[in-house]
Amino acid sequence: MIYPALLDTFIFPVTNIFMGRKFWFIYHQLQKSQWFNREQIEQIQVLKLRKLVAHAYATVPLYRQLMDNKKVRPEEIKTLADIKKLPIVSKKDFRQDFPDRCTSITTSRKDWIFDSTSGSTGSPFQFIRDKQFSDYALANTYRNYTWTGIFIGQRIASLWGFHTSSWGVKILDTLLRRKFFSSFDIEKNFTDYYLAMKSYHPVLIEAYSASITHFAKLLQENDITDLHIPYAISSAETLYPENRKLIEHTLHTQVFDRYGSREVGNVAHECREHKGLHINAETYIVEVVKDKPSDEKGHLVVTNLSNFTMPFIRYDTEDYAIASNKTCACGRGLPLLERVEGRITDFIKLPNGKELSFLFFNYFFEQYGAYLKQFQVIQDSPKHLLIKLVVTEKYTLTKEKELIAGIKKKVGDMNIDVEQVYEIKKETSGKLRPVKRLI
Ligand SMILES: [Zn+2]
Repeated sequence: MIYPALLDTFIFPVTNIFMGRKFWFIYHQLQKSQWFNREQIEQIQVLKLRKLVAHAYATVPLYRQLMDNKKVRPEEIKTLADIKKLPIVSKKDFRQDFPDRCTSITTSRKDWIFDSTSGSTGSPFQFIRDKQFSDYALANTYRNYTWTGIFIGQRIASLWGFHTSSWGVKILDTLLRRKFFSSFDIEKNFTDYYLAMKSYHPVLIEAYSASITHFAKLLQENDITDLHIPYAISSAETLYPENRKLIEHTLHTQVFDRYGSREVGNVAHECREHKGLHINAETYIVEVVKDKPSDEKGHLVVTNLSNFTMPFIRYDTEDYAIASNKTCACGRGLPLLERVEGRITDFIKLPNGKELSFLFFNYFFEQYGAYLKQFQVIQDSPKHLLIKLVVTEKYTLTKEKELIAGIKKKVGDMNIDVEQVYEIKKETSGKLRPVKRLI
């Protein structure tokens, strides 16, 4: 434990000063404020929100226009509940005349950090971060690491799709003792990854949910039981209960679910109670906006209180979530999300207007375990599903007919085509999407 102590008291503070950054100081503030009570945390949120909204209205053309259209003035935002008076912004709003319309005219372009995501429909989504956003994002990520039980500076393995090779990231990886494993080609690199992890002895593995599930399945198939990684963070994709069990069993680990995205950072994370995901509420205001009051789930709408260059205020993430008003036994005053249900485009839209999630297909295809290795369901038009299957040698046309009939029973008036493939290709981000709606 000498290194984590040295990192905390000397290396990171000096690195911050040397790099002109503040993430370590923010990290320490966040470590304290997580224990504030709910009212104190809401006070922080309101103060930050009012400042951000006033700034956005005065200096960002997009917000000036949207707020004028809604006839709402920044002075009207006095409480947290007043956030509902503000318009919800979508990716489409940000794409229009990017970057001039959605960035602050008072920030200096030389401080802009351009970034992008692959986007849910495959079209890239560009955005701009600033130093403050990056510092808060890092500070929240580090705080969330410690919620598992590790000290910053203990070894971390990162099974991830995208990794920047900038010097800043390399320095941080070295300081954090974080080793990167690409989530592409896990099957091909499986033995190398297993041996590298075994010799590296990470205390924590952070990974895309599907990637760590895939890795766990390969461990199981190869009867490997001697890889022990005490903690695992599953992120970037929906974590399904059966996959959580599989990961915990094969890696002898405790799994923590995390919700975040590139454009806003890590928003919420489980603590050791595993009773939902605590929102990093000093940095984010999270709302679950339902289409109908009777709905269980709603749109996950995020306000990032730290990005003043390209503010995200009431940003529709295109993910679904279920709200929670519980308090947690861990004692943190940070509010909870019950769970995140995944992207809106991870749900098939049925002709009767209802939605069908990955879970149905997962349970359905489970009964064909001997015949199928992998599946992907793509809705490419309102009434058509293309089902891609990686099959085993036992698969027959009779099974295919049975399978189509079973799905038809559930989806109703839709046409179904089955295509046999050698592999289900990952997205450019390295994520695997078993259910994909293209409309
Ligand atoms: Zn908790």
